[in-house]
Amino acid sequence: MIFQANDELKAFVAEAKTYTINGKVADYIPALGKASQNDLAIAIYYPDGQWISAGEMEKEFTLQSISKVITLALVLMDRGFEYVFERVGMEPTGDPFNSIAKLETMAPTKPLNPMINAGALVVTHMIMGNTVEERIQRLVSFIRQLANKSTIGYCEEVARSEFESAHLNRALCHFLKQHNIIDEDVEQLIDLYTKQCAIEINCFDLARIALVFAMDGVDPESGIQIMPADIARICKTFMVTCGMYNASGEFAIKTGIPAKSGVSGGIMGAVPGLCGIGVFGPALDEKGNSIAGLKLLELLSKKYELNMF
Ligand code: GLN
Repeated sequence: MIFQANDELKAFVAEAKTYTINGKVADYIPALGKASQNDLAIAIYYPDGQWISAGEMEKEFTLQSISKVITLALVLMDRGFEYVFERVGMEPTGDPFNSIAKLETMAPTKPLNPMINAGALVVTHMIMGNTVEERIQRLVSFIRQLANKSTIGYCEEVARSEFESAHLNRALCHFLKQHNIIDEDVEQLIDLYTKQCAIEINCFDLARIALVFAMDGVDPESGIQIMPADIARICKTFMVTCGMYNASGEFAIKTGIPAKSGVSGGIMGAVPGLCGIGVFGPALDEKGNSIAGLKLLELLSKKYELNMF
């Protein structure tokens, strides 16, 4: 175990918390705007079942873009490598997560990777099932298994709020449909995608999910292989190359932890073979990453040599 006491972690949280003042809570999805600017929480979950935490641990938040990496794992299990990567690429973009620009200029027109919205919408489109409800429940069940918590579900209010304001994501879907990359009704796909993004967790759940990725798909407590090791590795690789949007390169250099962030302020960090980390800090920097969360992970990585490189 790296940390000897929760006190040590509390001191790091206190130091990183000073950065929240420079960030801004996302409000382009109106329901997210209710979050508290100064919150910062972290949980770290170890393979032996021990965990430590600090900050506002009781706060629940929605996965948002963190869901993209989990959906990718589910879809890879359902459809296989060839099918998925015929429809979405493997390369970082260097553009903001919601950019439409490269869809227009790149040939072939498939989105560059599954961590930007265009690619994530294609991946969500691939979730198997007959109805939106059946498909979201398959994803929720998978997340319950990863988090080892049977009560996880999605937040209706956040899902509805995003559904009503997701004009840019609708534009991406129409572009993808025009180019035959998706063949689903756009409103139906936006319904599924916004429910996926609204799946609600806390830092502890997030750390538990991250731990399974860190352990190459094995639930360390039950010993069950929840997802194949190669799929867990593909997900971690995307977390390194694209997980923090167009700040992924800088994060890899400064921190060196496979991680995925979301606009609710969550960051999921999977330190290979060592631990799962869940962070929540809703004040975001200009690229949409938790400003204090980034600092906290950087401080911890330096102090405890978590950098995988
Ligand atoms: N639901 C959000 C969106 O599509 C997710 C984006 C994010 O977390 N960066 O805009």
